[in-house]
Amino acid sequence: MAILEGINPATGEKLDSVEEIEIQAIPLLMEKGQQAFKSWSRLTTKERLHYLRNLKELMVRDIEKLAQVIADDTGKPPTESLVADIMPTLDAMVHIISHAEKTLQPKKVKTPLLLIGKKSYVEYMPRGLVLVISPWNYPLQLALVPVVSALVSGNTVILKPSEVTPLVGKSIEELFKHAGFPNDVVQVAHGGKEVGAHLTEAKPDYIFFTGSVRTGKIIQKVAAEHLIPTTLELGGKDPFIVFADANLKRAAKGAVWAAFTNSGQVCMSAERVFVERKIYNQFTELLKEETEKLVQGNDNTADIGSMTYKVQVDIVKRQVKDALDRGATLTCGIHPDKWSHPMFIKPTILTDIPKDAEIVQEETFGPILPLIPFDNEEEVIVFANDTEYGLNASVWTSDKMKARRVASQLISGAVVINDAIVSVANHHLPFGGTKHSGIGRYHGEEGLKIFCHEKAIVVDSGKRNKEIQWYPYEGKYEDFLQLFKSYFGKKKDWLHFMKRYLRLLKK
Ligand code: NAD
Repeated sequence: MAILEGINPATGEKLDSVEEIEIQAIPLLMEKGQQAFKSWSRLTTKERLHYLRNLKELMVRDIEKLAQVIADDTGKPPTESLVADIMPTLDAMVHIISHAEKTLQPKKVKTPLLLIGKKSYVEYMPRGLVLVISPWNYPLQLALVPVVSALVSGNTVILKPSEVTPLVGKSIEELFKHAGFPNDVVQVAHGGKEVGAHLTEAKPDYIFFTGSVRTGKIIQKVAAEHLIPTTLELGGKDPFIVFADANLKRAAKGAVWAAFTNSGQVCMSAERVFVERKIYNQFTELLKEETEKLVQGNDNTADIGSMTYKVQVDIVKRQVKDALDRGATLTCGIHPDKWSHPMFIKPTILTDIPKDAEIVQEETFGPILPLIPFDNEEEVIVFANDTEYGLNASVWTSDKMKARRVASQLISGAVVINDAIVSVANHHLPFGGTKHSGIGRYHGEEGLKIFCHEKAIVVDSGKRNKEIQWYPYEGKYEDFLQLFKSYFGKKKDWLHFMKRYLRLLKK
């Protein structure tokens, strides 16, 4: 049996380990999840929320332990685990606890007059067994939020956490066990790509995937083969746009945080900072000043931890080297040839970057801040949209109209004005990407409804013997013609409508 070793990337220290699931065990896992669905889906939302409350209370009780496991497994400072991984997860749970019953209850909707005598409803029916596949950068939030959303909506779940952060996966498994969820309602399948691929092929009823564009495309192909609906939350190359009239001090602090938080391993991090040319030099200086203050380490005194995944370090290194080889200037940071720690990358600012450099086009997912000047509003909108991605964006200006105007033209799942990233922390807002950044939305009401079949129900009392559109058609054409003219015409003629309707009913 293969073992996933938990190793602290910041220290190299060996931690705990987790047993990978055997591929042969996947059919049984599917069967158990399908069996458990039969009883779990019959519970009311209120009954299911009882388990979610237990889970939330357990997480609050063990919050420090959890923050440390995340920090050890990812190399981020515990403050970051707490603020950016645990807090949004708990907040999502609170939102679900207070909104799920209303969101998932059947809703009466209007019925048009042409369907006289009937009532219409929308019902939300759980889909079945949901597969959630999650990444390593926010290993708690990006696993738990979709998992609990699917569960509360009445589905059972198989979670495949990232193999890069196996100990967070293990903690999630233990949390569900201790929260008292019924057997097999949530099953955690530890493992890597192969396990993920086999689970996808095992035909779950829905796939919720968070990760890279490359894997997203593979999953979508398999899902298309079996017509499995999916949500794909993928990568980003987010623009951070600073106009000359912005509060530059705030914008500089904001840019440094948005580019370097979680060592830049954030799908919504500022990956391209566009600065209006007339303040470009001044803003560059402010950024340098702020960046040089940052402390790296893996305890609570640190601002920036290590990278989590060696493969990602190599990608970042390649992109920075490519940009420098092609004439970019290293305004802050260390040349990649001199990086001395295998997992810590010094926050880096690059300027004078060729427009077609990989670092301007491809997701970097590291603590690199590329600075690009622009001359006017129209130009920066073109620059910002000139990428295959479209996850989040931020616009910095004191001109409210300009901010809204620019925000409306950015092809992006979200735009934050005079701040960055925080849209993800408001569960009243939808979350998701455009273009290669993903398909679908979650969070809020939508985040529960995606895990349901939205079912249309029309009810007739059954008392009348027939309907006007039923057979026979003979002798009805003229009446229908007049009925529709009176109904769809510029001015509705209700008297005429009722006359024709009653005539049709008699035929
Ligand atoms: P990844 O695509 O390499 O892996 C994600 C998950 O998919 C892992 O659990 C992995 O084991 C699994 N996987 C890999 N190959 C698979 C396959 N063929 N079939 C099924 N499962 C497979 O991504 P990663 O490196 O873990 O995460 C980083 C990426 O995730 C970045 O691109 C980042 O932008 C993106 N991301 C997006 C969001 C978002 O909400 N949009 C959030 C966080 C991260």
